Amino acid sequence: MCSGRVDLEFVLRAFSNGMDGVFIGGCRLNECNYITHGNYDALNMVLLCRRIMEHIGLNPERLRIEFMSSAEGILFAEVMREFGNEVTELGPLGIAEGIDQNELKSKLAEIRKLVPYIKMVKDEKLASRLENPEEYDKLFTKDEIDRLFSEVVSYYIEPEKCQACMICARRCPVEAITGAKNEVHVIEQEICIKCGTCFDVCPPKFGAVAKITGEPVPPPIPEDKRTIVRKG
Ligand code: SF4
Ligand code: SF4
Repeated sequence: MCSGRVDLEFVLRAFSNGMDGVFIGGCRLNECNYITHGNYDALNMVLLCRRIMEHIGLNPERLRIEFMSSAEGILFAEVMREFGNEVTELGPLGIAEGIDQNELKSKLAEIRKLVPYIKMVKDEKLASRLENPEEYDKLFTKDEIDRLFSEVVSYYIEPEKCQACMICARRCPVEAITGAKNEVHVIEQEICIKCGTCFDVCPPKFGAVAKITGEPVPPPIPEDKRTIVRKG
């Protein structure tokens, strides 16, 4: 498949499954047969992922992307041998970096859950195509990625404003919203992927979905207090 189809989630899943290194091979830049130039998407994703790896204490050298044509079998073999040796030298994932295995597992699981959010927030940069390869070093900075994770947004339905119109529950892509007719809706934070759809679709006259950053999400309203009593 096109290297542009290699999702950030695929790479993080490979590391979650204990792979010590991930290699992505794409067609040469600017030689794509289509107007999509998916290999630029792959490059941007790799640069983002390498910063994320740094953020959680993993050596970013464990992830590599190279661009070559299908006629360059020798180059491919050389690159693979070199990368294989590099990864062997780096040692087992996490252990070589001194990260506890359970801690690494939970960090990766947490970040995988945030993939849709990360992709949404970094949408523009992920779709960029820079002319000068040197600019790529600065596409994502360490500070930027640290800030991304310290400013993660959560969504919360304010019980006193929710009118149980059910729009958000119907539109939530992961069925994270529970509720029924005449019942205040509640977001299950464990399932929510922070896509922001509920925030966008809640009718402005209700404005019941709040965006929360930097403070804890209030606990869900108890089930026996969710019924909405309407006048008349
Ligand atoms: S932000 Fe809202 S719509 Fe998106 S997953 Fe979370 S609850 Fe569902
Ligand atoms: S869209 Fe808004 S008002 Fe309607 S159920 Fe969801 S939170 Fe409540």
